[in-house]
Amino acid sequence: MARIDDLPPLRDVIRRHGLSARKSLGQNFLLDLNLTARIARAAEPLENVTAVEIGPGPGGLTRALLALGARRVVAVERDERALAALAEIADRYPGQLDVIAGDALAVDLGDALGPERARIVANLPYNIATALLVKWLTVEPWPPWYDSMVLMFQREVAERIVAKPGSKSYGRLSVLAGWRTEAKILFDVAPSAFVPPPKVTSSVVRLSPRPEPLACDADALQRVTEAAFGQRRKMLRQSLKSLGFDPAALLEAAGLEPTARAEEIAVEGFVNLARGFAAQRPPTLQGVRVRPS
Ligand code: SAM
Repeated sequence: MARIDDLPPLRDVIRRHGLSARKSLGQNFLLDLNLTARIARAAEPLENVTAVEIGPGPGGLTRALLALGARRVVAVERDERALAALAEIADRYPGQLDVIAGDALAVDLGDALGPERARIVANLPYNIATALLVKWLTVEPWPPWYDSMVLMFQREVAERIVAKPGSKSYGRLSVLAGWRTEAKILFDVAPSAFVPPPKVTSSVVRLSPRPEPLACDADALQRVTEAAFGQRRKMLRQSLKSLGFDPAALLEAAGLEPTARAEEIAVEGFVNLARGFAAQRPPTLQGVRVRPS
């Protein structure tokens, strides 16, 4: 494949800027621009799109997104050592790369994003990948500010995201992702593609927001799935007791067998449980933080 741009090879960038990988920052860099271009292509078409990238690091994926025609990339990076390397990319693509130095879990992208379509594309730091995904899946209002997500996860996490009822991987993340998106594993990436190589295979996943997911409170859905999968081998009439009351009425209203187990219940069943749970909570606890006196 032809070179994607006229910037220096990533190995040189890493050496010049002293970007030795830090485990604490989940740093496993992709140095093959053909591979980063493959990930960027999974997010096409990129024309008129603002790509939101978490953790650009030395910029391999950033460069691919810009080379393949993204109008703009807004990148959030916590490692200050990477900022000078990213400034070189910004010079090569004037006005098209905005780097926000900070923690992606805390940053508010509100001001950085314009009216154009936004798409999240990232080789995520694995230590916060699930937390970021949950944040994006539970965002309000819905449909969300992004039109799709193309994300790299550890294979095991990717399998949990796309899992269906009855499978070993089916759990809280599958329910949340299945409720609001259609998720698909696109391809695997071997450990040898990264520097340093992680212990496990990775997978690129695309999540497309459902325009009209079943109406449900995200917080209530998380509470019931936490209770149900917290004791996944137990029957729901037992595991749901951790919600703080006898779940018999809740199960009946949701049309679920009290003897069923969490891994057999489809997303719709959990949505019904969450609706019943939200209705049972005292109003003061719905979305209001109560301070202990
Ligand atoms: N995108 C680059 C690539 O594909 O080679 C780097 C990916 S590396 C797996 C994860 C990146 O996320 C690193 O650059 C790391 O510094 C950054 N990072 C880690 N924690 C972060 C956080 N809380 N907020 C923003 N970036 C973070």
